[in-house]
Amino acid sequence: MRYLLFLLPVLLFTTACNSQSKVAVTNSDEPAVVEDLTPNYKYAPPEVEGVIEKIEKPASYWKEVLDAKSFNVLREDGTERSFTSPLLNEKRAGIFTCGGCGLPLFSSSTKFKSGTGWPSFYEPINPAYIKEDVDVRYGMRRVEVSCARCDGHQGHVFPDGPEPTGLRYCINGVSLNFVPMEDFPEVRE
Ligand SMILES: [Zn+2]
Repeated sequence: MRYLLFLLPVLLFTTACNSQSKVAVTNSDEPAVVEDLTPNYKYAPPEVEGVIEKIEKPASYWKEVLDAKSFNVLREDGTERSFTSPLLNEKRAGIFTCGGCGLPLFSSSTKFKSGTGWPSFYEPINPAYIKEDVDVRYGMRRVEVSCARCDGHQGHVFPDGPEPTGLRYCINGVSLNFVPMEDFPEVRE
C-alpha cells in the first residue's frame, strides 16, 4: 500500500480537476441533473502535476522499503527471471506504477503479449516519466529504461514492438505495482 502515499497527490489533483467539471443542467420541465463533463479517461493516465521532482534516497532507505527482489532490480539493475511475474497475466484495465516511488509509468491499454516472459508495453504513459540511457553491459548495446522520478531500473526498450510505436518496453514485473482502474474513483471507463 506504500504506493498509495505517492499516488495521493495524483488522486487529489484528479479530484481537484473533476470538481470543476460537473455542472448542473436545468430544464423547466425536468428535475436538475448533473452532467458529467469529465473527459473520457478510458485507460488514460492521471497526470502528475508540474515538473517531476526527483526522489533521491540512500540505498539503506530502499533496502528498508523494498523486498529483496525489487531492490535487486530497481536499485541494482538486476533482471527478474522470465515468466515469473504475476503481472504477465494481468489483464485488467489499470495503471502500472513504479514499484519504488509510485509514479504512473504504463497503462494497461498499451500492454501486449510479447512472448518474452516479461511484461511488455508499446509506450509509456508519458515520455517525461521515463528515463532512457544507453546500456552497453554484457556485450550488448541496449537502451535502459528507468523511472524518471526515483531512477529505479525498470528494464529496456527495443525497436521491435508492435504498432503504433514499433517499440517494446520490456519491463521487470517486480519494478511495477498494478493499480486497477476501479481504484481511481474519478477515472471511468
Ligand atoms: Zn520511481
